[in-house]
Parts: sequence; C-alpha cells; structure tokens
Amino acid sequence: MFSTSIAGSLPKPEWLAETQKLWPQWKQAGDSLSQAKADATLLWIKAQEDAGLDIIGDGEQARQHFVHGFLEQVEGIDFENKVKMGIRNNRYDAMVPQVVAKLRLKGRVHAMEAQLLRAHTSRKTKFTLPGPMTIVDTVADRFYGEGKEGRIQMAMAFAELLNQEALALQADGIDIIQFDEPAFNVYMEDAADWGVKALERAAQGLTCTTAVHICYGYGIQANVDWKNTLGHEWRQYEKVFPALAKSSIQQVSLECFHSHVPMDLISLLKGKDVMVGVIDVASDVIETPEEVADTIGKALQFVSKEHLFPCTNCGMAPMGRDVAWKKLKALAKGAELARKRMGS
Ligand SMILES: [Zn+2]
Repeated sequence: MFSTSIAGSLPKPEWLAETQKLWPQWKQAGDSLSQAKADATLLWIKAQEDAGLDIIGDGEQARQHFVHGFLEQVEGIDFENKVKMGIRNNRYDAMVPQVVAKLRLKGRVHAMEAQLLRAHTSRKTKFTLPGPMTIVDTVADRFYGEGKEGRIQMAMAFAELLNQEALALQADGIDIIQFDEPAFNVYMEDAADWGVKALERAAQGLTCTTAVHICYGYGIQANVDWKNTLGHEWRQYEKVFPALAKSSIQQVSLECFHSHVPMDLISLLKGKDVMVGVIDVASDVIETPEEVADTIGKALQFVSKEHLFPCTNCGMAPMGRDVAWKKLKALAKGAELARKRMGS
C-alpha cells in the first residue's frame, strides 16, 4: 500500500553536468561521459533505496533534458541547427532541434540506464519517456507541415518510435513505463482530441504497467510565474482526465501539495492508479512526514488506498542535490506514517 516513487528526474552531480539547470552542459566527453552517466545513475539508485522508496527510477542521469535525451537517438532530426521556439504555448523559449526528414530510431535509446537499474535493485522499477504530444511541443518542424494535421502526423510518428523503445525497456525488465505529458495541461482540447490516442499508440502492446505524468512543470521561474496567472483553482486536468479514464493507460499522476488543483478531480480517474503529488518541487522547504501523510489522507477521499501511489509533483532535475535527497526521505517517511494511520 502507498508504494512511493519519484516523477522521474533527479539533480545531476556537479562532476557530471552543470547543476540547477534544465538544459545543463555535460562536464565530461566521450568514454568519461558514458562512465560518469552510469556512475550517477548507480548513485541515485542507491540513494532512492536508502531513502526508502518502493519504486526505483534511473533519475534521468543520462539525458541532458527529458525530451531532447530521446531525440538525440532519432534519425531525421537536425541537432546542429537549433532554433529558438516558444514552448508550452510560449510560456518560455527554448533552443530546439528541427525535424527535417522521416523519423527513425538509430538504435536503443536508454538500454544502459534501464539495464543498470534492473541489475542493481530488486525493487520495482519505473522508467520515463517523453510523451508524443510533449515531444511535438519541444521540437521545431520543417517536414510534417503546418497546422493540426501536421502536428498529429508528427506525434504519431514519434509515438511509433517511443513504442519501439518502450517494448525494449519492458524486455530489459522494467515494471512501469511512464510517459511524461506536461503539454496535456497546456493544450487541453488537443490532448483530449488526439494526445491521448498518440499516447496509447506509444504504449501499444505493453504488458507491463503503463503510466502518464501530467504536471505544471519543473520548479523554474517561468513556470512559477505561469502558475500565478492560473487563478485560484487549477482545473486543467478536468478536460483531459475523462479521456484518460477511458484509455488503456493504467496510472495517472497529478500535482497536489501546494498546488491549486481541486482534489476532487481525482474522481474523474475511476479505475486508475493515481500517483498523488505529495512533494513540491518548486520549493526548497522540505516537507514533513505529517504534511505528506496529510496530503495522502486528503486524496483518500477520492481514490481507494490500493490505487494511491504517493509521488513527487514533478521531476527534481533543476533542484539542489541535498534538497532532493531530503525530499526523497520525506516522501518515504510520509508514506510510512500514512500506512500507520491506516492501521497497517
Ligand atoms: Zn512534470
């Protein structure tokens, strides 16, 4: 009951990459970089276990960014000539690569991290991939054409590639494959219209557990400013959850602690496992176990204990390493306290 996990990313150690950045530069190259990525992955596997988490991830140590890490292994993308693009409906600018030809995987994307993860923990494992709609929103297009049809076509093409990698991750022994779709909270109509379909295409044929993470973004200033414009109640999930409830995806995450998401929106996810965000990633203040257990208690009004999975609100990539470590412990301790309160 109350199996804990992180959303996905963890801070990179300073010997691997620049710290507290969303698109950090690597500090190594060649074989040293490959070794440093593996070392950092091992370090965080151990730290998650030591903190007491139940489901362990790779902490996304081997990818520069959660979307571009995948794109680097895709043929048909020009990384040499990045262009500036407003992403998440122009919430912030990013330098993004361009799609210039038919898309194809060059080979495995995450074999190293997934196999390390499987070999070094006996606990359940979760692996994250970007969702198709969020990829489409984080890359420039010079091949599929303007407008909605082009976007859908490109999303479906990426979904096929994601599916290939997801099936391979499953074969590596990964228990849960999670697609990250922050774009679902930005383009709600499109998400319900075709985003969920593209997601299901990415998850096609998987027999392991499938999940989707939808959030209000990393704790960076642009996101904090955006959240301040969303008003008293954040009801974005309301438009997407009904489509997800009907979908084949088994687990859905939502932000809870310190967010203005009305908890009763969880009721729209009947039958699904719900990853409840009990850790704020936009604040360095460490949650107390009591706060975590209280958030779990509030969520229990709308989801049964068997379906509740305490989680972080979003990834912790841009945070300080020490803060992230303390938050992992708070997550595990809070879930433990919630179990005690339930009398088990
Ligand atoms: Zn997130």
